[in-house]
Amino acid sequence: MAASRTLGTFRLPPLPTIREIIKLFRLQAVKQLSQNFLLDLRLTDKIVRKAGSLTNAYVYEVGPGPGGITRSILNAGVAELLVVEKDVRFIPGLQMLSDAAPGKLRIVHGDVLTFKIENAFPESLKRQWEDDPPNVHIIGNLPFSVSTPLIIKWLENVSHRNGPFAYGRTQMTLTFQKEVAERLTASTGSKQRSRLSIMAQYLCDVQHILTIPGQAFIPKPEVDSGVVHFTPLTRPRIEQPFRLVERVVQNAFQFRRKYCHRGLGMLFPEAQRLESTGKLLKLADVDPTLRPTQLSVLHFKSLCDAYRKMCDEDPHLFAYNFREELKQGDDKESYRL
Ligand code: SAM
Repeated sequence: MAASRTLGTFRLPPLPTIREIIKLFRLQAVKQLSQNFLLDLRLTDKIVRKAGSLTNAYVYEVGPGPGGITRSILNAGVAELLVVEKDVRFIPGLQMLSDAAPGKLRIVHGDVLTFKIENAFPESLKRQWEDDPPNVHIIGNLPFSVSTPLIIKWLENVSHRNGPFAYGRTQMTLTFQKEVAERLTASTGSKQRSRLSIMAQYLCDVQHILTIPGQAFIPKPEVDSGVVHFTPLTRPRIEQPFRLVERVVQNAFQFRRKYCHRGLGMLFPEAQRLESTGKLLKLADVDPTLRPTQLSVLHFKSLCDAYRKMCDEDPHLFAYNFREELKQGDDKESYRL
């Protein structure tokens, strides 16, 4: 291994500013791709510091764009930075950074939604799940339209310990629309409590570490952003398959202002709804008159365990989808007409 990789003292040489890079390579933000850039390197340094120590780390940056966060990551003493960028216009500017940081920056022109990171870094970085997190980090400021589906996909990867989590409990530092950051980290009973809160918090320790005002971005988006740090838990708070948890949580939040029994009832066919919902809530020892937002992760654990028991007793139950039942009802109605 090269000395520069172990010492962690690398600094980028003087380079054109991000604003100059944008001008030089004509990188006007494309509105359809929701591109908003961070030009202030003090701010990108701050985001990167929040990721924790990156000395000799292997970092996967998603959506580097003109490279503001990329520069801060390279200056943090990483062993290697792999960036995946979808928009080909950014590649020459990133190549300039790569030339300034020989052997440290790997550029992939591709899509984070399909890129496979699990074989990109050395095998030797892999840790047991129960060990401290590996020296592998994910950092990114993605468009909001990509970051939400991506975090759901990565949470599922956490539950299966694959994808970026084939290395162990890889930590992530990601930027979201502020409201999404608040939902991810919302505590029991708070206004922002939602499906995302439970899905993130049953698998990870989740911290909203920074709010970035809209005016820090060029062009300025309509809303502020929130940076969220995720560390997968050694033991998930709910020990059931991801798809089962997702199903219970999704149904519970179906009618967020009503009592929780209303949404949870949609887990069961209409003919047995009342009886089965009563059985579920009794088995789980959950008060049917709590609102979905008042349910803790522990409540969801009991609900998922009880639902699993009922699915084991009735193998058709998990395949039940109330939307299909509604649709079949509609079809019958129109047939009669
Ligand atoms: N990281 C830069 C910054 O903070 O200034 C750019 C942020 S901009 C909000 C999002 C970046 O992600 C853009 O460069 C965009 O082209 C890229 N991007 C969008 N969708 C992507 C995808 N599916 N895969 C990889 N990159 C993507």
